[in-house]
Amino acid sequence: MNPRNRRVVDPGKIEQNMREICSALPEHVRALAVVKADGYGHGALQTARAAIHGGASMLAVASVDEGTALRDGGIRIPILVLGAVTGYDVKQGAEAGLIQTVCSPDMVRMCESAATETGKQTEVHLKIDTGMGRIGIRTEKEKEQVMKTLRECPHVKLGGAFTHFADADGGEDGERYTEQQFRRFLELTDGLPEDVIRHCCNSAAIHRHPEMHLDMVRAGISLYGYPPVKTNMKLEPCMTWTATVSYVKELAPGSFVSYGRTWQANRTIRAATVTCGYGDGYHRSASGKACVLIHGKRAAVIGRICMDQMVADVTDIPDVKPGDEVILIGREGHEQITAEDLAKWSGTISYEILLSVGSRVKKEIIHSAYRKGDEG
Ligand SMILES: *Cc1c(COP(=O)(O)O)cnc(C)c1O
Repeated sequence: MNPRNRRVVDPGKIEQNMREICSALPEHVRALAVVKADGYGHGALQTARAAIHGGASMLAVASVDEGTALRDGGIRIPILVLGAVTGYDVKQGAEAGLIQTVCSPDMVRMCESAATETGKQTEVHLKIDTGMGRIGIRTEKEKEQVMKTLRECPHVKLGGAFTHFADADGGEDGERYTEQQFRRFLELTDGLPEDVIRHCCNSAAIHRHPEMHLDMVRAGISLYGYPPVKTNMKLEPCMTWTATVSYVKELAPGSFVSYGRTWQANRTIRAATVTCGYGDGYHRSASGKACVLIHGKRAAVIGRICMDQMVADVTDIPDVKPGDEVILIGREGHEQITAEDLAKWSGTISYEILLSVGSRVKKEIIHSAYRKGDEG
């Protein structure tokens, strides 16, 4: 029997995607795998292991808690916390041997205190704001202040400097903005010590701007098979999301389906009720637009998506019965629904769709292509 609702991740495909990205990089460019937000919804630990097998030499997370969880899971390679240091968890980060992100003298001092308290040298990367407007030093003067503080803090070592592009997947105007951000990054990192690595490329820039790869690139969404721009790389989605048919019925012309009576049958149809709704993370905003796959064929979702259920028109799909599998994201036969498709129907981006899959959904891993047990 199919479970009510299931998300299956194939770490073998994550590993293969990582390998594909690494093989496109020159020898001297390192690959960092971004596994924040539970590995974009794929499971942080299994994603980390797969990415390491695929060639990643560093990982990135959003917070100290996320980094600590990876250490607890046995991950030993360098882990960069992308968010700025906070007094709240800087000591925990130092204890776990995480690389912390700094962009002010105060943050450097917090790292120094944490380092002396824990007896561990702390590595930091300097965040430079070249046009994203979130965190990071913006001027030469701010950089000098941070560098001065670093010289006064012997237990803190500057290992890298990085910036983040705001519009690397944008149109021509975005291209120009990215180039401008890149030039600013080069200016502000000019004169840093030789052994400080520089990195600025997210997925979009990895594909579009090989000339910006510098010492390391940070692969997020492409690692999960959803490159945000055109690429020759063979990258495959790694997540499948399914639900189950719970009920099938015939609806006479004039019958309504779901809340608000937004959908009305204009002919006799067969309708299948599906065990998934916005309570499982399927966006309600996809109502009236979404499709699902049943028996390898597309079925339109009709009427509003409810909290726990939705209804699909299966008039043209023979023999649909309760217990049949319904693919929400995934491939069957010649048909495929991607997180990209579901994002369009929902009015959002693939990133948010991958992260939306709810806590009520049963999480499973395909272990086939995955070497269990040996960690990074
Ligand atoms: C999330 C994130 C990335 C990854 O971006 P993708 O578009 O998913 O590749 C890279 N760098 C930073 C600083 C990030 O926050």
